[in-house]
Amino acid sequence: LMPLLVHFCLAQSATYTVLPSVLLTGPSGAGKTTLHTLFERRTTPSETHTSQTPSSTELAVNESRTSSYREDLDATGATAARFLMIDTPGHGKLRHFAYERLGAEGIQGVKLKAVVFVVDAAAISEPEVLADTAAYLYDILLRLQKRVASAKSGKAPYAIPVLVAANKTDLFMALPGKLVKSNLEKELGRIRKTRSKGLMDSGVGADDLGGGADEGDDWLGEYGSEEFKFEQLREFDIDVAVEAGAVLGDKPRVDKWWTWIGEKL
Ligand code: GDP
Repeated sequence: LMPLLVHFCLAQSATYTVLPSVLLTGPSGAGKTTLHTLFERRTTPSETHTSQTPSSTELAVNESRTSSYREDLDATGATAARFLMIDTPGHGKLRHFAYERLGAEGIQGVKLKAVVFVVDAAAISEPEVLADTAAYLYDILLRLQKRVASAKSGKAPYAIPVLVAANKTDLFMALPGKLVKSNLEKELGRIRKTRSKGLMDSGVGADDLGGGADEGDDWLGEYGSEEFKFEQLREFDIDVAVEAGAVLGDKPRVDKWWTWIGEKL
């Protein structure tokens, strides 16, 4: 992979283009590296190895956002909109890379336009996998929510939408997209309850937290609601879509993800 963090504009030396970027996240083993490689090489990838650091690749869609990931736009000479795909490691101890990216808007030559969160739909019915996946997703969504909630009124930041890419649906034990969505919502709701209870049990009242901390600070979605639904994040201008697909299998089914990304650039 060729890391291209800053894309220098040769025509105007000393100025550089801020490339729109898409953050690729999700727990280890969900298929991020395989997906990244597929988009980069435009053909079914070979085995990948676990990544320990983020890596970025410059990718392109055509101006009308209708091109397939299989098209080599440079070769065909089609005018293209370029973007950076930033892959981050999913291991529990390395998730800070993704969190840092969520705060790095418009700096380091990167403007974050969208987040793709890859989940393993074939493993998500296992309780530990669901718990780990949802915990990571909770932290990503909460950061995006705080980004909007903490903005001064009238100065709302631009929206960053999230795609939950339910991967590995080529495998027979994979859950369909709808069930991946409802299972994640249930688990996110459970995490939300547990975390707010933890705060109350610790004896820290809202008053003790100081002026800056709101009592609903770590509460994801509609405050006080019984069940969590992704739709509740619209209040914070965060659109969450869940789409099933597969990077491997008979043939890759990632076109919906690619189209979704193209629309958000
Ligand atoms: P990462 O840790 O999220 O980067 O995950 P990887 O891309 O390394 O993928 C983990 C494993 O899942 C690898 O053995 C991949 O070959 C496999 N894998 C990834 N995507 C798919 C898929 O759509 N279907 C199947 N059957 N296996 C997949």
